[in-house]
Amino acid sequence: MQTFWKDTLLLVEHTETFGRGLLVEGLVNALVSNIMNKREIPFGKPWIDEEEKRAVAEVLDSPILVHGPRVKQFEEDFGRFTAAPHSLAMASCTAALHLASFYAGIGPGDEVIVPAQTHIATAHAVEFCGGTCVFVDAELETGNIDIDQIELAITERTKALAVVHFLGMPVDMPAVCSIANRHNLFLVEDCALAIGTFVDGLHAGLHGDAGCFSFYPVKHITTAEGGMMITTRSDVAKKMHFLRAFGVDRTVGERKVPGVYDVPMLGYNYRMNEIEAALGVEQVKRLPEMLRRRAENHRTLSQQLETIDEISLFATSNNRLKSSYYCLSVLLSDRLAAKRFDIVAYLRSKGVGTSVYYPKPVPHMTYYRDKYGIGESAFPNALRISEHSISLPVGPHLNEDDMCYIAATLKDAVASV
Ligand SMILES: *Cc1c(COP(=O)(O)O)cnc(C)c1O
Repeated sequence: MQTFWKDTLLLVEHTETFGRGLLVEGLVNALVSNIMNKREIPFGKPWIDEEEKRAVAEVLDSPILVHGPRVKQFEEDFGRFTAAPHSLAMASCTAALHLASFYAGIGPGDEVIVPAQTHIATAHAVEFCGGTCVFVDAELETGNIDIDQIELAITERTKALAVVHFLGMPVDMPAVCSIANRHNLFLVEDCALAIGTFVDGLHAGLHGDAGCFSFYPVKHITTAEGGMMITTRSDVAKKMHFLRAFGVDRTVGERKVPGVYDVPMLGYNYRMNEIEAALGVEQVKRLPEMLRRRAENHRTLSQQLETIDEISLFATSNNRLKSSYYCLSVLLSDRLAAKRFDIVAYLRSKGVGTSVYYPKPVPHMTYYRDKYGIGESAFPNALRISEHSISLPVGPHLNEDDMCYIAATLKDAVASV
């Protein structure tokens, strides 16, 4: 009832704004949801405040919508947070991954090692360039690429290697880097869920040749659509600059005389715009607080779930590998996995949003399965993760109380199926 009175006070305070009709409706809703004890815990929820709204409005009031100071600012701020020597804002993480393949010169006949358990974009980036994906299975402990299997997949045609920090838990990069060095492979890190992910104190994305981040709404921070590439290599950064803007040889700012430029190479239009960057600048300011809440929520929920038989948790941070705690995925026993959608529906009915990362391993998605002739039981660990896991939310929109509620609800669900 306590929340009912809180809601009521809030509504009364805002009667002026909402009008009396809405006040009555709001009171009835608040009473009903309190009586039914109904909570809403969405899987993800962008944290957008007045600052973001003001920043976007300022862009719209200005004459510059693209090629402006906000993108520069966002790149600088993101670079400061990750300690990246070079940061390049992009239209999306997929755009950044595509440019990485393009830069590496991937084309027909070239092979790229790709994790079987990842977002489809990691593999699509190779296909865009006409390259061939050679998938490598996941390890069950973390969901990350099984490093021991990488070298078995390398041939004389292998030109690049992509890894994903699965749900923000880092791949052990020094081991991967030495393989890439030994075979002279361009190394791409898909860091879409890895803002705040560190390996030996160095941020994810700075171990390989290019690290690609996503600012899609359910990620750690959002610019609606958007991405960022970071790199320690000045040669990569310099060329990416051109590749993301048609291959034009100088930026608008560098053109002393309008209309004088040349195009020495092929390039895309993969820029981020000023509206997106304005959102990004505000979001980065809140990043430490967002990551702190995720880590805390993850810890609380892990502790409570450890006591449930029939579910197991992925390995998480240790003193070398620090996760960004994108979500908390649980692996169900065979018995529970057969009832997974009943469990998900039960959680849903109690207001708990969930997700599945990822519904199928990439090579089992129709496009890849048909193109590559993948067998039904290939990549068994990636399959097991796809078929046995449920991902629970730990985002900054949630608190300790929400974590207790999720754990209790999952316990009820497990007992009821
Ligand atoms: C979300 C995501 C992407 C794609 O990001 P976009 O910004 O939507 O292009 C790629 N890889 C991983 C691991 C993701 O989670």
